[in-house]
Amino acid sequence: MEIAEGKLELIAESMANLARNSTNLKSPKRRIKGDGSSVCSADHLMEAQSWRNVRRYLPEVDKLLGEETHNGMPLGKLIASIDGIDGSDRFIRGEQTWSNSIGIVTGGPEGRPIAGTAVQVKRAFLTRRGKGVKVLQGRHWKRFVRPDAAKHVIATDFGPTSPERYSGEVEKVSLQMQLPQEAMPAVHAGLEILTGGALCWWSYTAHHWDLAATALMLEETGCVAECLNGDPIPWDRVKMPPVILARSSRTADRVRKVLCS
Ligand SMILES: [Mg+2]
Repeated sequence: MEIAEGKLELIAESMANLARNSTNLKSPKRRIKGDGSSVCSADHLMEAQSWRNVRRYLPEVDKLLGEETHNGMPLGKLIASIDGIDGSDRFIRGEQTWSNSIGIVTGGPEGRPIAGTAVQVKRAFLTRRGKGVKVLQGRHWKRFVRPDAAKHVIATDFGPTSPERYSGEVEKVSLQMQLPQEAMPAVHAGLEILTGGALCWWSYTAHHWDLAATALMLEETGCVAECLNGDPIPWDRVKMPPVILARSSRTADRVRKVLCS
């Protein structure tokens, strides 16, 4: 199954426009969800608009798995896995490092992402399986080339639902690999690893929509997106087992080694 690149471009451009204009939204009201994370009206708005775009340009996608509307793993041939706003707290604070993420994932136990877009206020990316990653430069989509150098930083996922052992693990990795740490929401972390802004990120609380787009982008550029134990990511699950995103399998293995030591 192949997703038309032109259609994906239109979806990403529409979401990028919305992201740029959303900075005008005045202090949205924050609500705390059951899992301790934040949500505001813009989360729903961005998710609804993402799904509207998918249905408009990719009518072959038959099911939605959205952060704000999910009701278990949908049964469908092609699923749109949508995080309207990843990094809601950053959005509410008026920062520009929140992301909109749309992954197109085949259904069933053998399912996997086949396309996706990830958009921030200042940058937009898209990917299709086997076709690499593209980045929006001005009004044109250019082939994305992963930079050779990366900032020596570990990205972390501290949140209200992180297990207690997580902070100890982060300290350990930071100390043993001699890397500073920087907190990042999932999609932003994926994009930072892709663009050389961080080396790795791991999480115990990631969901399908946090990874669907960026995992494929990382895979397509020789980076790593897999379970923390080395298994492939199970794309038929909403709540993911522990996962790691890393610049290379060598980096992922180094992190694992420290975690096991
Ligand atoms: Mg969200």
